[in-house]
Amino acid sequence: MSHTDYASFYRRSIDDRDGFWAEQARLIDWQRPFDRVCNYDNPPFARWFEGGLTNLCHNAVDRHLATRADQNALIYVSTETGTERAYTYRELHTEVQRMAAILRALGVQKGDRVLIYMPMIPEAAFAMLACVRIGAIHSVVFGGFASHSLATRIDDAAPKVIVSADAGMRAGKVVPYKHLLDEAIRLSRHQPQRVLMVNRGLAPLDPVAERDVDYATLREAHLQAQVPCEWVDSTHPSYILYTSGTTGKPKGVQRDTGGYAVALAASMRYIYMAQPGETYFSTSDIGWVVGHSYIIYGPLINGMATIMYEGTPIRPDAGIWWRLVQDYRVTVMFTAPTAARVLKKQDPAYLTKYDLSSLRALFLAGEPLDEPTATWMAQAIGKPVIDNYWQTETGWPILAVCNGVEPAPTKFGSPGKAVYGYDVRLIDENTGEKITEPNRKGVIAVQGPLPPGCLQTVWGDDERYVKTYWSSIPGRQMYSTFDWGVRDADGYYYILGRTDDVINVAGHRLGTREIEESISSHPAVAEVAVVGVADALKGQVAVAFAVLKDPARAATEADALKLEGEIMKVVDEQLGAVARPARVRFVSLLPKTRSGKLLRRAIQAVCEGRDPGDLTTLDDPSALQQIRDLVQPPSA
Ligand code: ATP
Ligand code: MG
Repeated sequence: MSHTDYASFYRRSIDDRDGFWAEQARLIDWQRPFDRVCNYDNPPFARWFEGGLTNLCHNAVDRHLATRADQNALIYVSTETGTERAYTYRELHTEVQRMAAILRALGVQKGDRVLIYMPMIPEAAFAMLACVRIGAIHSVVFGGFASHSLATRIDDAAPKVIVSADAGMRAGKVVPYKHLLDEAIRLSRHQPQRVLMVNRGLAPLDPVAERDVDYATLREAHLQAQVPCEWVDSTHPSYILYTSGTTGKPKGVQRDTGGYAVALAASMRYIYMAQPGETYFSTSDIGWVVGHSYIIYGPLINGMATIMYEGTPIRPDAGIWWRLVQDYRVTVMFTAPTAARVLKKQDPAYLTKYDLSSLRALFLAGEPLDEPTATWMAQAIGKPVIDNYWQTETGWPILAVCNGVEPAPTKFGSPGKAVYGYDVRLIDENTGEKITEPNRKGVIAVQGPLPPGCLQTVWGDDERYVKTYWSSIPGRQMYSTFDWGVRDADGYYYILGRTDDVINVAGHRLGTREIEESISSHPAVAEVAVVGVADALKGQVAVAFAVLKDPARAATEADALKLEGEIMKVVDEQLGAVARPARVRFVSLLPKTRSGKLLRRAIQAVCEGRDPGDLTTLDDPSALQQIRDLVQPPSA
C-alpha cells in the first residue's frame, strides 16, 4: 500500500467497493469464505461478507496464540485500587474460556443477550470476549449509570444473564453497583434469569437467592474449561450499544461480526498507524463505543497489547497517563477533548516528566476539539494531536486523516477528510442537493451502503432505523449524521455542531457551536455552552454559559457585567450583532453526559422553564442546578 495516494485509495473504496473490501477482509481470519462482499439488495440494510463464517473472539485472541502467546494482550491498570496486572494472550485465552464456560453453564446460547454492567476491570473484558466467543450478544451499559437508565436498557435488550460487580471506584470513592442493579431489575419488565457477580471486596453484595451467582466460585469450577469459538455468520450480531443520549432517547446500535472485525483491522492500519506487538492506550470506558472499538476489539484484532485503565487522568497526579506511556512503550494513544481540557488545568510539567519517545500520536474524538486545546496539547507533549470524527452508530471514524495510507497534514479545527468506504456528502438541508462548492455549510450525510462495521439496524426496530437515520434528507434515502459541517477546497471537513443545535434569531439561522467558538476565543473563557431560548420578540435568542479560567474575574456583579460586555463585543466583531448572546452567565461547570458531551437540550429546557426530561446520562446534577439558580431566581 506504500505507493498509494489517498485520493485514489479513497476513490477505489467507493468506485470498486467490493474489490476494495474483499482485499481488506484478508486482514482477519475466516473459517469459511464469504459468498458476497456486500449485499445491498434491500437498502438501507447492508449485509457485509454474507455467507462468511468467522468469530470476533477468534480474531481478537485465538489466532494470535501461534505467534504471540507470551506477549501482553491486556494490561490492567487501576489507580483506584492500586492494581497493575498484565495478561498475556495465553492468559487472556484461558480466562475468556473460563468465562465462556460459566456463561454456558448459566444457560447462555448463541443469540442470547448478556448485559454487562461493570467497572473497568479485566473481568469486563473477559465477559465481552466470552460472549462473542459463544455467539451471544453483549450489551455493555456504562457502569456509572443509575437504575432508571439501566432498567430501560434491560427492557430493550432483554438479557438472559447480567454480569456485574459489587462496585466501581471514581476519584478514590467506592461507587457501589449492586443496589443500583437490584433496583434496575425491580424497575424493568424483563427479568434476567441469572446475575453473575464479580466481588471486588469493595461493597456489600447481598445476593438474591436463586438469581445471583458468584464469579470466583464458578471460575474455580471451570479452571480447565475449553470452549471452542462458535463460528457465526458474518452478519450475526456481536453487540448492542446504546448511544450517549445527548439529543434524546438512546438508540440501541446493533453491530455485526465480520464487517466490524474487518473495519477495525483496517482502521488500525490506515488511521491509527498501529502495528502488531505494540501497545495501544485508549483512555475511554468499555461503556462507550471507543471502549468497544479501541480498548477491546481493535487493538486485540491487531495483535497489540491494550491498556485498560480505571481511574482519572489526574490521580495520583496529572502525570499518570504519561507514566503509563513510558512504562508500556505506548505507541498510539486515544482520548477525548474533555480529558485534554482537564489536563490543561494542571501543571504542564507533568507532560514532560516521562519519556514519551515511543508515542507516535495522540488521537482525540467524541466532541469538537477546540484549537487552543489542540495546540496546547501538541506543544506540551511534542507529538501530533489528531482529531477524528465518528459516532456510536458507525463504530469507527467517518472523517480522519489517514496517515497510514499517505501521510498528510492535519488542519486545526478539522478532523480531516472523508474516510475510505464512506461516501460522505454535504447536503443542503432545504433541497437535499449535494453541495459541491467549498466552504458552504451543509448536513454531513453518507450515501448508502454504509461501509462495514457500521450499525446494521436499531436493535429490534428496523423501522426506527430507517425513520431515524435514512429519512431526514429531502427527496433521497441517505444516512444523516445530524451534524453540520463545511468542507474546504482540499476536502477537509469542519464540524459546526449538531443539526438540533441551530437557533433562529429574528429569521437568522445560527449554529450555537459557531457562537461558542467565538466566545472561546476570549482569553478569560475556559469553556462555554450556548443555547437558543424562546423569545417573544425574536423567536429565539442565544444565551451563553461560560466557565472562566479564573473565576475571580467574575467575583462581583460589576466584574461579571464588565466581562459579559467584553465577550459580547468579541461575538459582535467576529459574527455580527445578530449572533450576540442576550446574556453571558458565568458558572463553575457545565452539564455534560457521562461521556463528556455538552447537554445543550437540558440547558435549553431549564432556561425555558421546561422539564429537562431524561437526565440519566447527566454527569453532575449540580451543574444544571447552577443554571437553574441563575435563570430562575428563587424570588421569581
Ligand atoms: P445521541 O445520538 O444519543 O444524542 P451522541 O450523539 O452524543 O448521543 P455518540 O455517538 O457518542 O452519541 O456521539 C457522536 C457525536 O459526537 C457526533 O455525531 C458528533 O456530534 C460528536 N463528535 C464525535 N466526534 C467528534 C469530533 N471529532 N468533532 C466534533 N464532534 C464530534
Ligand atoms: Mg448521536
